[in-house]
Amino acid sequence: MGEFDLIRRFFTRPTPHAVLGVGDDCALLQSAPGMQMAISTDMLVSGRHFFADTDPQALGHKCLAVNLSDLAACGARPLAFTLALALPEADEAWLAPFAQGLLALADAHGCELIGGDTTRGPLSICITVFGEVPAQSRNPRHPLVPTSALLRSGAQAGDDIYVSGTLGDAALALQALWGQVALPPEVLVQARQRLERPSPRVALGQALRGVASACADVSDGLIGDLGHILERSALGARVDTERVLPLLAARSHFPGGSVQFDQQLSHAPDAQHPAALALQCVLAGGDDYELVFCAAPAQRDAVQAAATQSGTPVTRIGTMQAAPGLHLVDGQGRTVAPQFASFDHFSASRSRPA
Ligand code: ADP
Ligand code: MG
Repeated sequence: MGEFDLIRRFFTRPTPHAVLGVGDDCALLQSAPGMQMAISTDMLVSGRHFFADTDPQALGHKCLAVNLSDLAACGARPLAFTLALALPEADEAWLAPFAQGLLALADAHGCELIGGDTTRGPLSICITVFGEVPAQSRNPRHPLVPTSALLRSGAQAGDDIYVSGTLGDAALALQALWGQVALPPEVLVQARQRLERPSPRVALGQALRGVASACADVSDGLIGDLGHILERSALGARVDTERVLPLLAARSHFPGGSVQFDQQLSHAPDAQHPAALALQCVLAGGDDYELVFCAAPAQRDAVQAAATQSGTPVTRIGTMQAAPGLHLVDGQGRTVAPQFASFDHFSASRSRPA
């Protein structure tokens, strides 16, 4: 199977919304009046972002999901994407399920494959997504950027902080696959689903336009990604660990269960302290592809309406504040050991790029 056969068989689809799709030197997209394009690229490299033997269907899903998640974080509606593929060989048994996983998610979000590039090389997948948001000539949240898109900047001191869905299960699955923690088989199946088949929060992101003051997706862990909002909004935050810890779906399966869980902050996260490890996953694990966002307390009803409308649960986990830094507090507002050094160490050990 030659390069063009491969493109024709697996990656050429009808593109009813694009002016021109696969087959020419460029694809053509018509930008609608009053709209802006939101564009984002993510690259996944074998051995770095996924195991070489990952189920190709799940991989096809994931490599588009991580890109759609960036559109979600901006509140953009997906339109189209390009796919750049390096493949060690043209293996139909791999390509067919890969294309199936990829295109099923694309169809679910009305996101059309309009072009790409295909070359021989160590397996890597690079996708660029194109989405749209309404232009907005004057947005008081970011006076210099005339857009309705959600940005990392724009949060105000006193804003509530929310996170969508569940957190940490993907990172926990990764730790289990690395042999760092033992999980009961049914728990691993669930957690692995979160690692391999994340659900980008595209509908929630769009519903939050005009409601959230700032937003980011949680790709590298809550602390890191909320950290981006703090930095871009020039603020600090208090995050209530007692609201965050229950967001780990696998939490109740841990030895000692819920009661002991938050006392584990003082332990190093290793195989001897599985609950400490799980805690690291919730706070600093990656690959969740949830949204972390801020909104003024006056918007609480609107936030709930956006959650209901998009069918995505959200949890309020803290408050933005003028004092710099990210402060982890318990239910009584006491600072709990924020072992940022170990969080950093943990992210480094996950072998992910910055
Ligand atoms: P060029 O060399 O002019 O950049 P190519 O010959 O590489 O174009 O590709 C031919 C056509 O196939 C182009 O329209 C390109 O966008 C598309 N294409 C190449 N690889 C892929 C892919 N993996 N998925 C979708 N479209 C692709
Ligand atoms: Mg060309």
